[in-house]
Amino acid sequence: MTSAFQNPAPPAGPSNRESGVVERIRNLIGVGDTAAEGEIFFGDDAAILSPPPGQALVACTDAAVMGVHIDPALFGSHDLGWRAMMATLSDIAAMGAEPWRALVTVIGPKADDLILAMEGAQAAAEAGLTTIVGGDVSSGSELSVSVTALGLLDGSALTRSGARVGDTVLLTGALGASAAGLRLARRGEGLEQALVERHIRPRPKLREGALARALGASAAIDISDGFSLDLGRVAELSGVGVEIHELWVADGASKSEALSGGEDYELIMVTNAPEELIKGFAKAGLPSPRSVGNIVKTRGMWLNGQVLEPSGFDHRL
Ligand SMILES: [Mg+2]
Repeated sequence: MTSAFQNPAPPAGPSNRESGVVERIRNLIGVGDTAAEGEIFFGDDAAILSPPPGQALVACTDAAVMGVHIDPALFGSHDLGWRAMMATLSDIAAMGAEPWRALVTVIGPKADDLILAMEGAQAAAEAGLTTIVGGDVSSGSELSVSVTALGLLDGSALTRSGARVGDTVLLTGALGASAAGLRLARRGEGLEQALVERHIRPRPKLREGALARALGASAAIDISDGFSLDLGRVAELSGVGVEIHELWVADGASKSEALSGGEDYELIMVTNAPEELIKGFAKAGLPSPRSVGNIVKTRGMWLNGQVLEPSGFDHRL
């Protein structure tokens, strides 16, 4: 594997084409322009990174495949790259870490699509304050983008297992916008609409996770697969139950889109100090989180007294 966009050996056949794509990608990203002393980003066998002293590294990886994660009839290669990067950075934020570096692998049948996908990933990295430091490129039957992200963690992480009885459940934003946007796009109701933008240009809560951790939150998860499904994961791993007293639905979204639509990339945050969290977000100039429920001893989930079953996008094969 070429782990840092080094130029592959140039024998005959497809690898000549690959070499050209690698050049274009390296030019696109800008070679090592933010590398610190001693760091190497591109062009060697591997990248060398120097995290700041005392900070833990948080690593995760996520893949997006055309036709699986986005609809090729509606959206393009650039969109796939953006989505892959943002989905991965969202997981970094959900741990209470700050995005830092990323490696990106693009695979697909057409060189131009590989470039477009990488452009999308690069645009998302810039928006997410992340530097792409390496990756790989290959021909393959389906266009796919894999992002490995590294985040910096200053202190203990926000895990899915940290919720405690008596804690409050908060959301960074309203639910269901992404699913509603996909519904509108499929009806051909104008790709420029704000809800469609929420689907195809997700903006994960990259500052909020680290801030929630600093403000004493006990647990968090990002909503990638559906609010009820992701909330259920926190309840299950924490060994607790959850009572939701308010379903915070985005304007234009339905109740079921809010409960199980997925890809909202809002954060579910759990804390025993909700007022401090809300004040801290206001002080940082971030949109106000909203208290939507409580952690209870009896295992299970309830929405306004009714049993809430987890539902959403389950990608296990
Ligand atoms: Mg996640």
